[in-house]
Amino acid sequence: MQRMGGMGPRGFLTDAEKANQPKITKDLLRRIVSYMLPYKVKFILVFITILISSVLGLLPAIITGRIVDQAIVPGGQLSRLVWLLLASLATLTASQLVSLLTTYLNAWISQHIIYDMKNQMYAHLQRMSHQFFTTEKQGDIITRMNTDISGVSSVISGTLQSILSNVATVVTSVIAMFTMNWLMALVGIVVIPLMILPTRSAGKSRWKLLTESQAKHDEMNQLINETLSVSGSLLTKLFTREKTEYERFEKVNGEVTKLSLKEQLSGRLFFLMMGIFTQIGPLLIYFVGGCLIMGVMDSSLFPTPLTIGAVTAMVSMVNRLYRPVESLLNISVDFTRSMALFTRIFDYFDRPIDIQSPPDAVSPPLDRAVIRYDHVAFGYSEDVQIFSDVSFEIQPGQMVAVVGPSGSGKSTLVNLLPRLYDVDAGSVSIAGVDVRKFDLTYLRSQIGVVTQDTYLFNGTIRDNLLYANPEATQEEIESACRAAAIHDFIASQPNGYDTEVGNRGLKLSGGEKQRISIARVILKDPRILILDEATSALDSISEAAIQEALSLLMKDRTSIVIAHRLSTILAADRILAINEGKIAQSGTHEELLAQEGIYRRLYETQFMKSSDFESESDQ
Ligand code: ADP
Repeated sequence: MQRMGGMGPRGFLTDAEKANQPKITKDLLRRIVSYMLPYKVKFILVFITILISSVLGLLPAIITGRIVDQAIVPGGQLSRLVWLLLASLATLTASQLVSLLTTYLNAWISQHIIYDMKNQMYAHLQRMSHQFFTTEKQGDIITRMNTDISGVSSVISGTLQSILSNVATVVTSVIAMFTMNWLMALVGIVVIPLMILPTRSAGKSRWKLLTESQAKHDEMNQLINETLSVSGSLLTKLFTREKTEYERFEKVNGEVTKLSLKEQLSGRLFFLMMGIFTQIGPLLIYFVGGCLIMGVMDSSLFPTPLTIGAVTAMVSMVNRLYRPVESLLNISVDFTRSMALFTRIFDYFDRPIDIQSPPDAVSPPLDRAVIRYDHVAFGYSEDVQIFSDVSFEIQPGQMVAVVGPSGSGKSTLVNLLPRLYDVDAGSVSIAGVDVRKFDLTYLRSQIGVVTQDTYLFNGTIRDNLLYANPEATQEEIESACRAAAIHDFIASQPNGYDTEVGNRGLKLSGGEKQRISIARVILKDPRILILDEATSALDSISEAAIQEALSLLMKDRTSIVIAHRLSTILAADRILAINEGKIAQSGTHEELLAQEGIYRRLYETQFMKSSDFESESDQ
């Protein structure tokens, strides 16, 4: 998968994957902590409960020693035995109850941090430029929002909690052991360094596998997202590519399965070795303890004589020690993975918001404002320039038609006005103010756009119309729909304005959708109109019906129409013919037709043929 770089053979990290290992810096840690700070009181509570439960958890081991020394060895102490057993049970239960509280607190904190992060991410992505959405893979955005941010929960309630509670268990156990008998404590923990080596290597290979399987999962998500989406599945059907797509999926699925299996099986040998190591400690304690009690070793070093109970207590304490040590050794993998997770999330947060309102944004009135493109240069990337030097002016209330061969940059040109993109050089201004100086929300609220690719949200027709103006009354909605020649259609539906439009409006025809989107712009009532081939999906009858509505809409408004129909061009006050990154010609239909140039060629090849009785498009 691209983000991770290609996969290396047999589970080795490629250079690209290695480069993707997170760099753990102070800044990164500080940033992670900043998300936890709002919950610091709860975090302190977590810490306290962890401490309490690990001390409580230690008591049963000590009580076991007492059971041996005070009840079993002296004999005849049945009531004492029962009391000690009950005490042991009570401390155990208390310890479990306290850790339940820890778990609850942790879950609460992590869910709230996720909530904060998701809100912040959504708000951030919402402000990303149009470019971001045309470039970024949809699957990546969804993964980042859901999988990655949700993964933060396991970091906090898993990794963090396990670090804290394991450290607490290890520290309390070691202190208790050394207090009891330093020599046995020493032999009990001497094997711990032996655990480090296998843990390290197992951790490393697990990290590799995790990185790979993460990348493969991403690839699978992307594939599902591409081929099982509305447009994707349609494309698959129409090109009868089911078999290839299935094979592609099966391949990725197979790789995911293989990696998951490998991941599950990795470290089995390691666990086996760990199992043996953890048995060596108790054996050593029994050996040393036995020698001391039998008098083989000099026990005068110790202030109190060693009892059998003390040996038993030591063994159960040392057994308590291994699991936390093991998981602390393993924590580096979890830790690295968590850091990778945060790095990926922060990478999104760090994407600059390249198009936003300046600090001293203005909102000048735009009634009867002049639109001016002044020596505009623009390219989607540095190496391909779409416009090198474009200048023109649109007078208030004028309707300008933009024509040009497909791909000449007509949509790009109009997209510069609502700042979907910013110019590389020169300026676009309205009412004498550079669009980059406007308050962005205000600027966009003043511009109505009807594109060829109509997008309706899943919901009812009414919901979609209200999107333009949530305050619109039913009368206003209906009058807008009448103007867009769609009211009768909507009224004829069993549910009327409450008809569901389906996923992206796919339950409606292209023309119906387009007329709804025109009604939507009528409701928005903008000062400036951009119509991008707005009528191309309409049949001639509905077109004639809304042509009038559009003319009404355009009256008193400044409008730019990307035109493909002769009727539109003839109605325009001026025509801009774009070719090869420049305004090749500008003037009225008659003027341009009289000249030799791109306009006449377009006219002869396209517009003349496109009488108003047939629908056409250059796409
Ligand atoms: P027109 O509307 O005249 O058909 P466009 O303005 O859509 O042309 O596109 C102009 C050129 O810019 C085309 O070559 C197209 O491939 C390219 N282009 C359009 N949108 C993007 C984009 N988001 N990123 C990169 N290139 C783009």
